[in-house]
Amino acid sequence: MDYFLQNKKLSMRIVVGLVLVVVLSLVWTNLIRTPAYSVSVDGEKTFVVKQKSDVEKTLVSIQKQQEKQNQPKLELSSQVEYHRTFASRDDILSGKELEQTIRKTFDFKAQAAAIMVDGKAIACVESKAQAEELLAQLKKENTVVDEGEKLLSVGFAEKVTIEEKSVAANQIIPQDKAYQLITIGTDQPQTYVVKEGDNLWLIARRNDMYVDDIMRANHLKSENLQPGDELILVKSQPYISVVAQVEGEKVETIPFQTKTEIDNSASGVRIKKDGCDGEKKIVYVATKVNGVVDEQEIKEETILKEAVDRILVKGKTVTVASRGSGGALDWPAYGPISKYYQRGHTGLDIAAKRGSAIRAADSGTVTFTGWQGGYGNFIIVNHGNGMITRYAHCSSINVSKGQQVARGETIGAVGSTGRSTGPHLHFEVLSGGSFQNPLSYLR
Ligand SMILES: [Zn+2]
Repeated sequence: MDYFLQNKKLSMRIVVGLVLVVVLSLVWTNLIRTPAYSVSVDGEKTFVVKQKSDVEKTLVSIQKQQEKQNQPKLELSSQVEYHRTFASRDDILSGKELEQTIRKTFDFKAQAAAIMVDGKAIACVESKAQAEELLAQLKKENTVVDEGEKLLSVGFAEKVTIEEKSVAANQIIPQDKAYQLITIGTDQPQTYVVKEGDNLWLIARRNDMYVDDIMRANHLKSENLQPGDELILVKSQPYISVVAQVEGEKVETIPFQTKTEIDNSASGVRIKKDGCDGEKKIVYVATKVNGVVDEQEIKEETILKEAVDRILVKGKTVTVASRGSGGALDWPAYGPISKYYQRGHTGLDIAAKRGSAIRAADSGTVTFTGWQGGYGNFIIVNHGNGMITRYAHCSSINVSKGQQVARGETIGAVGSTGRSTGPHLHFEVLSGGSFQNPLSYLR
């Protein structure tokens, strides 16, 4: 009997123990841990919510906010799965916290208008209307029609189209950002720390930029720089080039030429007759790429007033002026050197203000004036003894072929015609038919 009693006591203990386990686990799951759903996004566990509907309601709220702000309708593109779980109340997300997490972890797609350049999507904006407006603005702001010119046509150098499609929502950028990206070519510009002796022209030339670009990008009020200043160098590499054709009309000066007569009975030099500049009207067609003249063709030329030659009489005793210091040349323009003679660069670039004088480096005969492709308005002067100097990117030319020029005489003005990123003189020296380093000749 004792044995039976003892056995009964043991069974009671087991039953009490089992009841305790059940009660404790109920307390644990209901009070400390609670049933919840773990949310997987594209196969990865991310966060825990109390109810599936918490996520669905938040998605609807995000949609409504988008609509209210006139932003594109979002479509969920992530694969979302729910799994039953138990979680501590502290880990369960809701409200603002849940919304932020959903925005961060879920991928959304939206309808957008992609601006395609030669088949590649460069920027996505919200709507086709925005894309069209952007392209129209691009044409308008990158077409320069000077006085006396009329616009013949304007287009893009690249094949530019607009494609409406569904893209990842974070790829859609505001219209102004898209404009910046297309015109500058980057949204991560490099920076530069100003050194002693720098000026904006030098920095611009070294980086193939315009001074205006640097001033705009850095909100500079003046061209004064201090060593240590940090500049954002937004190197403009536009994705789209605006090509405009203009027809223009302007009056140009025909510089007079100087003829020399030899009179063996006279001595010295005297002017027999004064020269007088002429005038001509030209009609030209120019192609401008992003506002810079790329090509220019003269269609018509009407002489308004003939130039009158200057006639000099040279006597027998006159000796031709010697070259002086062994072929030394005078500086043809004043300004900082913005690019040196180097591999791939056949001349010396001297940065100077548009319109400032270009002077003949030595006396000689003008053998070419006119437009020459990438050189723009171009002048060649032959100094004899195989020495030739050449002057590129001129804004205007004051001499004509065959004219004698004196050392230091103004032959043109600094400009940015041809392949040039800003006003400067590209100065070349040739001796015996090959390019020389101009700095070896300049004194
Ligand atoms: Zn150059």
